[in-house]
Amino acid sequence: MNARPLLNRRLDGLGTTIFAEMSALAAATGAINLGQGFPDADGPEEIREAAVRALREGKGNQYPPGPGVPELRTAISEHQQRFYGLSFDPDTEVLVTTGATEAIAAAMLALLEPGDEVIAFEPFYDSYAACVAMAGAKRVPLTLRAPSFRPDLDELRARITPRTRLLLINTPHNPTGTVLTAEEQSAIAALAVEHDLLVVTDEVYEHLVYEGAHRPMAALPGMRERTVTISSAGKTFSFTGWKVGWVTASAPLVSAVRTAKQYLTYVSGGPFQYAVAEALRLPDSYFDGFRADLRRKRDLLGGGLRAAGFEVYQPQGTYFITTDIAPFGEQDAYAFCRTLPERCGVVAIPSSVFYDAPDIGRGQVRFAFCKADEILEEAASRLRVLTS
Ligand code: PMP
Ligand code: GLN
Repeated sequence: MNARPLLNRRLDGLGTTIFAEMSALAAATGAINLGQGFPDADGPEEIREAAVRALREGKGNQYPPGPGVPELRTAISEHQQRFYGLSFDPDTEVLVTTGATEAIAAAMLALLEPGDEVIAFEPFYDSYAACVAMAGAKRVPLTLRAPSFRPDLDELRARITPRTRLLLINTPHNPTGTVLTAEEQSAIAALAVEHDLLVVTDEVYEHLVYEGAHRPMAALPGMRERTVTISSAGKTFSFTGWKVGWVTASAPLVSAVRTAKQYLTYVSGGPFQYAVAEALRLPDSYFDGFRADLRRKRDLLGGGLRAAGFEVYQPQGTYFITTDIAPFGEQDAYAFCRTLPERCGVVAIPSSVFYDAPDIGRGQVRFAFCKADEILEEAASRLRVLTS
């Protein structure tokens, strides 16, 4: 056998995603899975039925159009107008992707040249590091530090070099739950304009903001023509398995991202696109109810984790809570999460793996609260054995 390593050097060290690893651990041990972020209840029944109807009516069972079915592109465009007053042409400025994951990959592959630098918040959502690496580019961290997890804008300025091609923003931010303030967004936008940088912004948790309101980066002055906005139906409608995501951006940016997307998946799953088009048109009461429900769950699990002895960092958005295990006299989040199922029957994610700097997030553990109240209560009660 050829001695050359099988795995492309760019993928070296990426291994198995921590989400898959921890979900497998939950399956093997029967522990409550508060690791990987997926709801334990499906989204609205009428949207599930819409998918069944599309399948039965033969809508999307054969290759749909590459950019997405016109019904969904129009619904995405209407959603951006309805919630943010942003107007995107469904024909040239909207692209449907296979989840936000493909949108991130296609954007990185389309927009980066080898050697380019990408500044992103650390802790990084895991696919950012992978996609930047696959494009041959270099990730440059802008570290969000506990307890507040705010970006240091002077540090951002200092990180920009002549090689910087784009800023990869994520608000609300996974895993910390940070939601950028208007001032932070303005400062980031001003730097992007000053240095003529592209902005790729992952806003999959746009409808899970508990304090204030979500404002897309694309809404800031000077941003529309340089911003690629990414979102997904998975989080907003609790159908993470459908893998319907999308990009909104200017026509030249959408065209670039579409060029890469065509050769990744060619097109994305057909019948679900029709169902997601209906979902995006649900009344405000759906979006308000969803957010209120998750806010209540945040408070429920947050209280339980505090009572169990964790240091809890209150998230302003997403469905994750970041904690620190220092109060237990422990420091290694990965070791803690590996043994947590046998210690008390709960699975969580070691946020430490989302940091390049080994020391900064070492004791950080992320819990997902998109689960039934009884599950959250049971998990919190099990975690109490850590202090007993
Ligand atoms: N970005 C972030 C920040 C996420 O948390 C996730 C996980 N859901 C994704 C992208 C991927 O979304 P999708 O499942 O639509 O590919
Ligand atoms: N986005 C989800 C999370 O952060 C997981 C998605 C995945 O498994 N890639 O938990």
